[in-house]
Amino acid sequence: LAAEEGFDLDGFDGADGAEHVRLPVLAVVGRPNVGKSTLVNRIIGRREAVVEDKPGVTRDRVTYEASWNGRRFKVVDTGGWEIDVLGIDAMVAAQAELGIEQADAVLFVVDATVGATDTDEALIKIIRRAGKPTVLCANKVDGPSTEAEAAYLWSLGLGEPYPVSALHGRGSGDLLDAVMDALPEAPPQTFGDAAPGGPRRIALIGRPNVGKSSLLNKVAGEERVVVNELAGTTRDPVDEMIELGGKTWKFVDTAGIRRRVHLTAGADFYASLRTSAALEKAEVAVVLIDASETLAEQDTRIISMAVEAGRAVVVAYNKWDQLDEERRYYLEREIERDLVQVQWAPRVNVSAKTGRHMEKLVPAIETALEGWETRIPTARLNAFLGELVAAHPHPIRGGKQPRILFGTQAGIRPPRFVLFASGFLEAGYRRFIERRLREEFGFVGTPISISVRVRE
Ligand code: GDP
Ligand code: GDP
Repeated sequence: LAAEEGFDLDGFDGADGAEHVRLPVLAVVGRPNVGKSTLVNRIIGRREAVVEDKPGVTRDRVTYEASWNGRRFKVVDTGGWEIDVLGIDAMVAAQAELGIEQADAVLFVVDATVGATDTDEALIKIIRRAGKPTVLCANKVDGPSTEAEAAYLWSLGLGEPYPVSALHGRGSGDLLDAVMDALPEAPPQTFGDAAPGGPRRIALIGRPNVGKSSLLNKVAGEERVVVNELAGTTRDPVDEMIELGGKTWKFVDTAGIRRRVHLTAGADFYASLRTSAALEKAEVAVVLIDASETLAEQDTRIISMAVEAGRAVVVAYNKWDQLDEERRYYLEREIERDLVQVQWAPRVNVSAKTGRHMEKLVPAIETALEGWETRIPTARLNAFLGELVAAHPHPIRGGKQPRILFGTQAGIRPPRFVLFASGFLEAGYRRFIERRLREEFGFVGTPISISVRVRE
């Protein structure tokens, strides 16, 4: 059965596969003023081509595309965060740590005219812990007279220091050769990096009989298959491009929706496998629920799968045409009780049969995708956290009170936050922070994750 179903679990199929190729990433790390930005400009040849992240008033980590000897790679400039009350060391350490985590190799920049400071030593500890290939740049070696100072940096234990003048370009060729040796040819591919611009990918999921094929037929505008048809009689392509609200959307793994597996041994298992496969390929999940029936455990399980896969989520209550007053009343109670985990998801009440509210589907999907891609600038996030923590400090535990020192958004799709704290933050307090983040910034239709790093 599995072979016949043609499961494609890796999600890297077809024509758009090439767009998913991930370039190796180099993180440029160092304390402020050592010349990171100058060096990054030198590496990218001053083409200010920002390929990721939106540089705001306060710059966050900014990614540029670069190439050397015909090899393309990305450069992440970890500089430029505002230094505030938290103190320079905590800030520099936090930004370096996050930059390094997302990189394949590290370019550590030291000001050779100053030598290694305590902050440099702290950074070296972080670099060591990360265990990524590292190239040591001794910057501001503008002429032969400063080369001796660069040689002192051998003592840092990071291998050969490359003497460079980021300002004038001296030594930058040798440095880049070393960087290319440190970067992997083909970094591990991650699906989340899919190039933007193509049609957005939707997984239409839900337990059997909620109306997935009916809805698909309705939005596709034609009865391409007969609902309830016997298994295996239609041969659909795996994904379908469907135009909705003036845009083309890719409904992924629709063959799995249209081909019905009923009362077969292991049907549940295959349904769940198929749901994961679709989620793997999708950006947004439209979870269909049969509103005319009591919420089933399988409904909540499918919603959990979408949330855990980190996808944007829209909940569509189907068969609305069959609802009477009484059912509607109980449905609202069920939602309050059983679907708290997706309170943030946009909700549409539709009927695949009558076409009711089909036009609300696209706006809901777009809202969810927007929430999924929202990025909060570091300065704004910290202003918000500062106020929040002042008004609602963490409860004192064992005579100690954990403080949030600093926070940053480590990623989007879905939004991921990292909080640096002076102690362990209780789950209840983390949930409180998530609730307030949602109140402040929206994040409609997206799961968000918050992780905490404890600083001694
Ligand atoms: P960042 O804070 O690490 O990004 O440092 P910047 O790139 O902003 O540089 C800090 C200062 O050092 C600026 O005034 C630069 O002009 C200067 N600088 C950067 N690279 C060099 C260099 O190779 N030689 C000299 N003499 N100055 C440099
Ligand atoms: P799937 O298993 O999720 O793909 O569900 P189907 O699309 O095959 O639908 C299962 C049954 O529900 C079929 O008999 C459909 O005609 C019926 N159905 C689907 N959507 C609606 C709806 O909005 N209203 C009503 N009354 N019936 C529906």
